[in-house]
Amino acid sequence: MRPSISIEFEPVIGLEVHLQLNTKTKIFCGCANTFGREPNSHTCPVCLGLPGTLPVLNKKALEYAIKIALALHCEVNPLIKFDRKNYYYPDLPKGYQISQYDLPIAQHGLLVISSGGQAKKIRIRRGHLEEDAGKLIHDDSLGCSLVDYNRTGTPLMEIVTEPDLHSSQEAYDYLHILKLTLQYLDVSDCDMEKGSLRCDANVSLREKGSTTLGTKTELKNMNSFKAVKTALDFEIRRHQEVLQNGERVVQETRLWNETKGTTFSMRSKEEAHDYRYFPEPDLVPFVVDKKMIDAARQTLPEMPDVKLQRLIRDYQIPDYDAGILIQDPALADFFEQCAKANKGIESKKICNWIQGALLQELNARKKSVTTISLTVQNFTDLILKVENGALSNLAGKDVLKYIIDSGKSVDAVIQEKGLAQVSDDQTLDGIVENVIKENEKVVQQVKEGKASAIGFLVGQAMKKTEGKANPKKIGDLFRRRLLNE
Ligand code: ADP
Ligand code: MG
Ligand code: ZN
Repeated sequence: MRPSISIEFEPVIGLEVHLQLNTKTKIFCGCANTFGREPNSHTCPVCLGLPGTLPVLNKKALEYAIKIALALHCEVNPLIKFDRKNYYYPDLPKGYQISQYDLPIAQHGLLVISSGGQAKKIRIRRGHLEEDAGKLIHDDSLGCSLVDYNRTGTPLMEIVTEPDLHSSQEAYDYLHILKLTLQYLDVSDCDMEKGSLRCDANVSLREKGSTTLGTKTELKNMNSFKAVKTALDFEIRRHQEVLQNGERVVQETRLWNETKGTTFSMRSKEEAHDYRYFPEPDLVPFVVDKKMIDAARQTLPEMPDVKLQRLIRDYQIPDYDAGILIQDPALADFFEQCAKANKGIESKKICNWIQGALLQELNARKKSVTTISLTVQNFTDLILKVENGALSNLAGKDVLKYIIDSGKSVDAVIQEKGLAQVSDDQTLDGIVENVIKENEKVVQQVKEGKASAIGFLVGQAMKKTEGKANPKKIGDLFRRRLLNE
């Protein structure tokens, strides 16, 4: 056995994402771009690859690709062309896939990820347009495979990173922010389970500090972001063992097996395809003029990576909180309006109320902040009332429910429901006295030094007032009576 060497390794990861664009029609023909329909019901001579047919580029697909390019801070190539990538497989009726080889629509971009509270730039190598293949259905009961050509010709954008990711978590974070970006653009439903977003992961290891790349393996067949992360974790460990045993990693494509939790070899470099790319003679090169690019730029909202960094910077809120807000641009907007309402509420407090109580109410109603009648004024009033002690935290959450449903003002709801916090000393002291009488055992424990038992007593007092007492005051009163504080 070879002696094992202990070397510190750094993982190097590059991701290739295939995104189905949600255009109405396919990329080179007029067939509807659909999912889950009767097999082979949405096909025509063009997408079936019959001889004598000619492809015509879908303008919308090109527009979407430009939007994606801009959102990923890419250079948009002024001249693009399409190429044939040749291989034979039953799901590819033409025997070649129309793709882009040396003049892709997008190049040299970047996406800022937020990993462990740290902003990090991941370079985008390229983004290109291509057509999807059909779908093979393996039917054991029939003892054969069937092919559905509905998917053939679905517009795809392939987005390739530089090998800039250095852990499975960073890969996960990249995918997350990329998906959000694409959702902001509304160019795809980004559903990995439906296959509208697919990700291949390339990974290698190198000695820490080294700048040369190690031999990589390419992982396929992951159908969730979580699976990408676990597959990478598995593969990183496997590379590590191989290298530590003084052996070499074999460059190959490996498939992830979700049930076994392992990767296994699909094909090695020797068997790798030689696609013999050549220019697609049936499509002329396209000039992407400034007008098209400007028009696409006009439609772009602020992108989530930019929004994230801005929220952290402008409102001094934690990375985690900003990360929740950007999941829903309308919610982030609502937060900003509340923070700007300038009522002296800390931004972080507003975040807490949004992430906790508000999101809970929204989820329960399956609604968005734009489809309920909650105003910035009302929401900030509510937070302020709880902050000032006029409402208990619990009553505050109740009030939120009512103001969401009725659209009434916070004051009106407090009056109507009798939810104002009880803060006057005499009333509270009376309640405290009663609780002390009724809980001799716990009182004894408190006196013997178990200060945490006060929490129980406070809880009892809150119950008596149906949550309307000011818990801080109640706690003080118990401490004064029992501990002479
Ligand atoms: P291939 O020709 O095998 O498709 P590419 O050079 O096109 O490889 O790169 C595909 C992806 O793999 C890119 O995201 C790239 O960043 C990444 N990649 C390339 N080399 C390595 C490596 N040695 N380790 C990790 N990732 C790599
Ligand atoms: Mg590749
Ligand atoms: Zn068609």
